[in-house]
Amino acid sequence: MTASAYRGRFAPSPTGPLHLGSLSTALASFLDARAHGGAWLLRIEDLDPPREQPGATGRILASLRAHGLHWDETELFQHDRMAAYERVIAALLNSGDAFHCTCSRQDLHLGQGAHLPACPRSRTPPVGESAIRLRARDTPYRFADIFLGEVELPCPTGADDFVIRRRDGLYAYQLAVVIDDAEQQITHVVRGRDLLESTPHQVFLRARLGLAPVYYGHIPLLLNAQGQKLSKQNHAPALDDMRAPQNLLFCLEALGQLPPPPALRDACARILDWAIAHWQRALVPVQDRVVLVGSASTEH
Ligand code: GLU
Repeated sequence: MTASAYRGRFAPSPTGPLHLGSLSTALASFLDARAHGGAWLLRIEDLDPPREQPGATGRILASLRAHGLHWDETELFQHDRMAAYERVIAALLNSGDAFHCTCSRQDLHLGQGAHLPACPRSRTPPVGESAIRLRARDTPYRFADIFLGEVELPCPTGADDFVIRRRDGLYAYQLAVVIDDAEQQITHVVRGRDLLESTPHQVFLRARLGLAPVYYGHIPLLLNAQGQKLSKQNHAPALDDMRAPQNLLFCLEALGQLPPPPALRDACARILDWAIAHWQRALVPVQDRVVLVGSASTEH
């Protein structure tokens, strides 16, 4: 693949404003794309209305701009993509690659992957609620990660026929992310380590849909003092856009990158130009990091 063919993306879910953890994902995907002469796109993953926070999308867009993280092309919203997801589901049901399932994850886990005798596993919806699962018994659990090298994950018992449309009718993240990465012609997916276990599913689904493989890279998570991922659920403070240069410097350090010289630290554009020119994948740490939010320091 030539460097100019690189197309990366940041794909936040609007469940709340950005925090330092999501900024570091945005920054890593931005720097990796720009350092390879690539495009960097934005997708708002607003698939799950009950989990979304009113106004979060606007705050995310404003925060990215305030930090100088300007994306290429028009942002894609998953709420506009329902017809595309439905077409793929219909085709997968039609080809027998997907089926209606009335089992819970727990049922499958207890049966070590076997569906309950009552599970219809049919192309047509049963009476009552059902999820739609992809037949994925032979999902390969190995892939080459940009930052972690060869990754081999334990095969999850009972979770290999994975859900592509949920029982409540919402389209599953695994389905939407693959269809939309293809729609945006993404070649490189750089995201947090919390999504590592989703990658084999996405590799599998891409192949099943006849899509070319993409590169995946997972960056370490920022953890709070209790060892939990910084997230809205864990009360990570929203980014203060007035401190954008400091926030970028903090995330650069968390990504193991060299700090820009003091004279370049006062403006986002200068920090980013320097960081693009000096981006080194090999410096991105493998371990998650505890961050002391507020004191802007990281513990390794
Ligand atoms: N929307 C997902 C999140 O905010 C990220 C999806 C991805 O990068 O594949 O956690």
